[in-house]
Amino acid sequence: QHQTNHQVPEREKQRTEIQVESNVVVAVRVRPLTEDEHNRGDETIVYCPDQHSLLVGASGQERAFAFDVVLGPESSQHAMFQECGMTRLIDMAVQGFCCTVFAFGQTGSGKTYTITGPHSLFLEGSHDALLAGLMQRSLSYLLQLVGQSEEGFHLYASYLEIYNEQVHDLLNPCLPYSLAVRGSRTQGFYVENLSVVEFHNLDSFMRILEGGMQNRQSSSHSQNEHSSRSHSILTVHIKGMSTQGKLCVVDLAGSERVREGDSIEELLEETGNINRSLLTLGKCISSLVDPIKRNGHIPYRDSKLTKLLSDSLGGSGITLMIACVSPTLGNLQETLNTLRYSSRAKRIKNRPMVKRD
Ligand code: ADP
Repeated sequence: QHQTNHQVPEREKQRTEIQVESNVVVAVRVRPLTEDEHNRGDETIVYCPDQHSLLVGASGQERAFAFDVVLGPESSQHAMFQECGMTRLIDMAVQGFCCTVFAFGQTGSGKTYTITGPHSLFLEGSHDALLAGLMQRSLSYLLQLVGQSEEGFHLYASYLEIYNEQVHDLLNPCLPYSLAVRGSRTQGFYVENLSVVEFHNLDSFMRILEGGMQNRQSSSHSQNEHSSRSHSILTVHIKGMSTQGKLCVVDLAGSERVREGDSIEELLEETGNINRSLLTLGKCISSLVDPIKRNGHIPYRDSKLTKLLSDSLGGSGITLMIACVSPTLGNLQETLNTLRYSSRAKRIKNRPMVKRD
């Protein structure tokens, strides 16, 4: 078995500060019409006039939005990787920073396609390299960088899922219970006893990723329902002789379950079920961009997801948020919600970046 449990050893931490112009980048990706939508003649109401703007709504009533990066329906997986600044993000992770990519948006908006490529790539064994998602492209680039370096880097992966506020180890599905999220002054929040698996090349990374994805799917009777309600976090730890960086790739639950202004009590009343993590993430974003109104309190501790992402949001890391939207009229309300959420996230300013070395 290639899976061994390693704990990444803690090193002495010296703090080095680096100022960057912006360490939160927000990109929006509009997916093309699916075959079904096309056959039904669904109307398209999202337009991308240039690489930074979006027009949304019926003709004559469009609303304009601006983002750091806008990727239209014709954008390739390669363009998505390049234009979202992934190479810069990975360069920074190798230098010892905490770098995070989030994909969010309603179910069916293209989050999975963007992160790992279409389902056919894994489930039907197709290996069309042009369709490979951000994860595979990032790892190829990372392995190339690390291979050229004299630092003697070691790479480790962990992969977890949060479902109903329970944390499951996707690399060790035999554990029947939810893992605890702990906090420490030196490490920040971390998941106790999570497997950390070393890998040396793209093949061994892909085996880890595929195994984790299968564990995610087989853990539920209703796959769609499950993946639309669960969050996954894949973390690559990059350890050199003098640096310790990480790259986290987060696939968030479908955003359709959370409305602006919803409180936990209201949602419980309405649906009997809530996604506490997603709701808290929205609240953390609001508090980060409007700290005075919220008394400077950021409610990271209110959910597992936000605890684990506290260093990526308003922390000392560098973050890319990719908002995925559908182009059709029928999804207009959800698209507007996602874009409002993204516009707010665009105003987050992380603290000056800190690396540990
Ligand atoms: P989500 O993960 O947000 O639920 P999916 O990634 O499963 O959404 O995408 C929904 C459907 O749209 C899938 O059939 C997927 O292959 C297709 N799709 C999504 N984004 C794109 C894209 N950029 N280009 C082509 N097809 C896409």
